[in-house]
Amino acid sequence: APVSWDTDEIIARRDRYYAASQRAFVPYAKPLILKKGSMQYVWDEEGNRLTDLLGMNLCISVGHAHPAVVAAVQAQVAELTHCTTMFYHPVPAHFAEELAATMPAGEDWVVHFTNSGAEAIDLALMMARVRTGNLDVIALENSYHGATYGAQSVTGLQNFRHNAGQLSNICFTSDPNQYRGVHGPGVEPYLVDLERTLATATTGSVAGMIIEPVQGYGGIVEMPQGFISGAAERIRAAGGLMIIDEVQSGFGKTGRALWGFEHHDVVPDIVVMAKGIGNGIPLGAVVAKRDVAEAMAGKFLFHTYGANPAASAAGRAVLRVIQEDRMVENASKVGAVLHQGLKDLAARYPIIGNVRGTGFMQAIELVRDHDTKGPAMEETAFVFERTREHGIIVSKSGNYRNVLRMVPPLCLAMEDMDHVLGALDRSFADLAEHLG
Ligand code: PMP
Repeated sequence: APVSWDTDEIIARRDRYYAASQRAFVPYAKPLILKKGSMQYVWDEEGNRLTDLLGMNLCISVGHAHPAVVAAVQAQVAELTHCTTMFYHPVPAHFAEELAATMPAGEDWVVHFTNSGAEAIDLALMMARVRTGNLDVIALENSYHGATYGAQSVTGLQNFRHNAGQLSNICFTSDPNQYRGVHGPGVEPYLVDLERTLATATTGSVAGMIIEPVQGYGGIVEMPQGFISGAAERIRAAGGLMIIDEVQSGFGKTGRALWGFEHHDVVPDIVVMAKGIGNGIPLGAVVAKRDVAEAMAGKFLFHTYGANPAASAAGRAVLRVIQEDRMVENASKVGAVLHQGLKDLAARYPIIGNVRGTGFMQAIELVRDHDTKGPAMEETAFVFERTREHGIIVSKSGNYRNVLRMVPPLCLAMEDMDHVLGALDRSFADLAEHLG
């Protein structure tokens, strides 16, 4: 039967057949039903256009239905959609070569394709343990790394941790959140915490540490300069590897470089990527130094759709489009205007306690009081609802859901700024009016 576009039916069918944890999170009071997307815009089933500042959770990296990606995928699906890694095909191999070439020079990089980000995180943890012969892994508070057992076990946000048991030998250290961190701004105190974590919660011999260069679900928390490199030094001294999670910060999102770690004076041992890698086609990858990945040789490790030709064709098109359309530069330029616009809003609406971000990873944090930083959760929910009415999609994130996170596709243009900033302005004005 053809699908029904009847609103009530769509809602009823989803609510009836999705499992509880899959249907649990519905951001808007009135469900948003999406029908179509083109570049930075999506249309709902009533034909309303919304500017997608979420990139459908960062998966849409270069734009909805980007013609180059569509053409690449269509051609590959029609010729050979899938073959597993035991057979040879040039498209995934080319893509692996191209991804390896984006990594720091002077190292020998190899790629292991997976089906998703969390799977890639699990693999990265496993690789680090096998390579080092150690078990202990250190993660950051306020981090998000995925939904599988392994990825959930290194996730430092309670909302995502189910009461189902976790991997052992994982410990957390304080998050160098420059706005809300336990030590306030600065780097050194957080590195001292890491030293204490190493000295107390580990055996002294660790497998590694995992870090997002910009924490995504944690509410766009950028690692301060000197933290990742300082952590890498300490972790390596304890025999461990540095694992960088680029699932959100990768593919040019920071507006600085293709990878978030690139301006942190560190060469990772393992880099995890997903989401934007395929512009919405499911795909993940672990890019690792050869000696790290080679430690797992001798046993099979199959991810059935990993190195899928159709997904790899999407990935190759994404890399090409980012480069040809100078999209990192675009994220930098337009992101700077967005950032300034958010700061101007903060000057007019005292509920905004903090504006932060780089490139197309931007956030505003809402607080009831600038000194105590008490999270303004209901107010954030109110503003969030209004943003949709005014034609933009953002997301609520952070441990208190008091952060409005904006991570648009790399094609968001200067011409969109009036609409985007106007919509935010009106949403905050609505809140001010609502609060009297
Ligand atoms: N790491 C980060 C930083 C993420 O944001 C996510 C997904 N939100 C993941 C890992 C897991 O990716 P996936 O949902 O594809 O498993």
